[in-house]
Amino acid sequence: MSIIIDGKKIAAQVLDRVAQDVKQMKEQGRQVSLAVIIVGGDPASRVYVDNKKKDCALVGINSYEFALPAETSQEELMGLISELNFRDDINGILCQLPIPKQLDEKAVLMEISPAKDVDAFHPVNVGHIMIGDCLLLPCTPAGVMEMLRSQNVQIVGKHCVVIGRSNIVGKPMAMLMLKENATVTICHSKTVDLPQITRQADILIAAVGISKFVTGDMVKDGAIVIDVGMNRDENGKLCGDVDFASVEPKASLITPVPGGVGPMTRAMLLQNTVTAAKTQYGIEK
Ligand code: NAP
Repeated sequence: MSIIIDGKKIAAQVLDRVAQDVKQMKEQGRQVSLAVIIVGGDPASRVYVDNKKKDCALVGINSYEFALPAETSQEELMGLISELNFRDDINGILCQLPIPKQLDEKAVLMEISPAKDVDAFHPVNVGHIMIGDCLLLPCTPAGVMEMLRSQNVQIVGKHCVVIGRSNIVGKPMAMLMLKENATVTICHSKTVDLPQITRQADILIAAVGISKFVTGDMVKDGAIVIDVGMNRDENGKLCGDVDFASVEPKASLITPVPGGVGPMTRAMLLQNTVTAAKTQYGIEK
């Protein structure tokens, strides 16, 4: 039997901290504000943006939505970002992905000022993660680290296996674990004999995007298993990359889906917004 890490509870603790910080800043006459850009009418993006706005309201962060039509040109979008970069009343900027095909996503992410880049996708922030002096962290990996800290998991010297090497999850996740002195192995779709590697993991982090991909036979007894995946199973139900039924009996700690990493990702966006605001206001962190 394992301990199931309650992402909702830990996220609520993060939100409490963030709300306290926002309150203190307001008492000093400083507002905290996030600009959320959405281009086009993708229904999933609409849900994500609405949730982000709700989360902001919960902790006292002002959120400003900039909803642009699907046929927005590159120049228009870049122009908006450039304007937001210069606005003193905006501390964080995010552009909800994906954006319509005619737009150059890389160029858009590059345009957001690194100081306001609350998703931490800008190459400058990615570079900071690489050299280990990061300020703004990508929300999902940062959320996973917060979860491990909250459970007092000793990371030093542990073998951490990360399945997935995406720029938003797998790679930064591996870097953050390396910074905490884990020995890190990154696996991907071309990895040979994956189960032989995952069975060596003290901490196994799955960010694959395939329902129930990690099964009990791939996990060492007593391993800590973090499931980043957010997929739909055959019945359309939200599920992770980990086959909870077969992995849970072997793990010492495990995250569920839903209620695991997802709420942490949402909370860390707000944490980043406060961090960005503090930096811009010259407040000690
Ligand atoms: P992604 O960009 O599609 O990356 C998936 C990674 O998994 C790739 O590196 C890929 O390898 C690897 N992979 C695919 N098939 C594999 C296989 N058979 N064996 C080993 N590795 C394999 O996805 P992502 O954006 O990182 O997201 C991963 C999952 O996390 C998705 O379910 C996503 O919805 C979820 N997610 C959740 C949150 C949250 O808040 N909980 C946030 C972000 C993402 P290659 O590089 O070789 O193709």
